[in-house]
Amino acid sequence: MRIAVAGLQHETNTFVGGVTDASAFLKPGGWPELVRGEALRDSLAGTAVPMAGALAVLSNHGADIVPLLWAMALPSGPVDHAVFEAFRDEIVQGLKAAEPLDGVLLELHGAMVTTAEPDAEGNLLQTVRRALGSEVPVVATLDPHGNVTARMVACADWIEPYRTYPHVDMSETGARAACRLLDFAGGMHEPPARVYRPVPFLLPVVAQATDGPAMAALYAAAREHESTADVLGVQLTFGFPYADIADAGPAIVVYAESDRRAEEVAEMHLALWLDAEASLHMPLVGPNEAVAMAMDGAGSDGPVVLADVQDNPGAGGSQDTTGLLRALVEAGARGAVLAHICDPPAAAAAHAVGCGATLDLTVGGLTSPEHGAPVEGPFEVAALGSGRFTGEGPMYRGNAIDLGPVTVLRKNGVDVVVAGKRMQASEPGLLRHLGLNPEQLPILAVKSSVHFRGAYQAMARNIILVNAPGAVTMSLDKLDFRHAVRPVARAVPNDNRRPTGDFT
Ligand SMILES: [Zn+2]
Repeated sequence: MRIAVAGLQHETNTFVGGVTDASAFLKPGGWPELVRGEALRDSLAGTAVPMAGALAVLSNHGADIVPLLWAMALPSGPVDHAVFEAFRDEIVQGLKAAEPLDGVLLELHGAMVTTAEPDAEGNLLQTVRRALGSEVPVVATLDPHGNVTARMVACADWIEPYRTYPHVDMSETGARAACRLLDFAGGMHEPPARVYRPVPFLLPVVAQATDGPAMAALYAAAREHESTADVLGVQLTFGFPYADIADAGPAIVVYAESDRRAEEVAEMHLALWLDAEASLHMPLVGPNEAVAMAMDGAGSDGPVVLADVQDNPGAGGSQDTTGLLRALVEAGARGAVLAHICDPPAAAAAHAVGCGATLDLTVGGLTSPEHGAPVEGPFEVAALGSGRFTGEGPMYRGNAIDLGPVTVLRKNGVDVVVAGKRMQASEPGLLRHLGLNPEQLPILAVKSSVHFRGAYQAMARNIILVNAPGAVTMSLDKLDFRHAVRPVARAVPNDNRRPTGDFT
């Protein structure tokens, strides 16, 4: 069987400034570099990305694999439409050149917005479908932060989103997608009936964690339905509310033996989501209160984890806001480590003066001072690193990571990791690279909404979600939506909730 594969991922935050250009796809912080053709196999094998799992399954089945392209950029502003078109057309031309094909597997995100196209994945899938005709099965993996559209569902024979947030099942998702594609390509199963149901509310990302009891119940219900003979798949996505497009929000896609059955099951799951709406929120705590709670609760059996959930680089945050760092420094939270702030000049300055030196500079607050002024020095240079290490966490394992020069700067007993690039705070390898052992820290502050749980939840003594200012606001009603049509989910306002700091 001849199967072509390609990957193109971007999660677009339309509320942050700037246009994402081609260079953003070359070496995204933490992820594999852009790769084309046969080199794709070696580059991605053994990593956690969906394509790794898909390639393993396809190889095991002896498929004749035609690797075209794999590219990802970190979440940021809208993608330059010409850049998107160039990637799209390269993929489509590669598919045409590879014909005859028995199937196509695409690794996509689902929340890419370009400067001219709110539904980039729908556009890509439609272009692929038009180029190949209706007979060649097309299966796409998606990130559950994708804002799934009716066009995506119509143009792909099957979508397969990850089932976890933190995304610890990306390669497994690729493997599932590849198995499904092989079934279609081998004629084992005709592409099934499908129904797409948008869920009529927007959900802030902290409320999307799949370990949360309400979200876990929705996923369990989906798996339960899939065990019935006439339901092939119940796919859930929680959407990305920071992409201000008409289709932003969660969605349910049901694949079944008949339209009627797919409709029936989709309605059941929609009802479950509506029932769960008010339960899908997590309490946040102000920075000063959170730091006080962490200092009170710190012990020797794992860190209290403070999650700076509104400066999440994995959702387009600048990763240089200072609200939580300032609270830690002002409180003198001795032994606390914050990982990490993206501040290339500070990292370079630390390398210039060397370990043990004192630096009189400011840290953070570079790109959005409205979310907190830079923290004034002096800082002691406590550690230096090249920023090059191999990923060991659940999302980045096996990746050759290069964050540029990294350092640990110390002030008032607080250590802040500073790097030259943004990267989701779900990688213990960065801390170990700098001689820090996360298990032994009293307090670990991370710039992440949910993904940090993949690396740190098991070792955490406690987790506190902190609402320091940042672009990735959890108060969605503060965003100036122009295109999104769904209302923000019903919820008790965070400030009126008793902050427990407990996750469950
Ligand atoms: Zn995601």
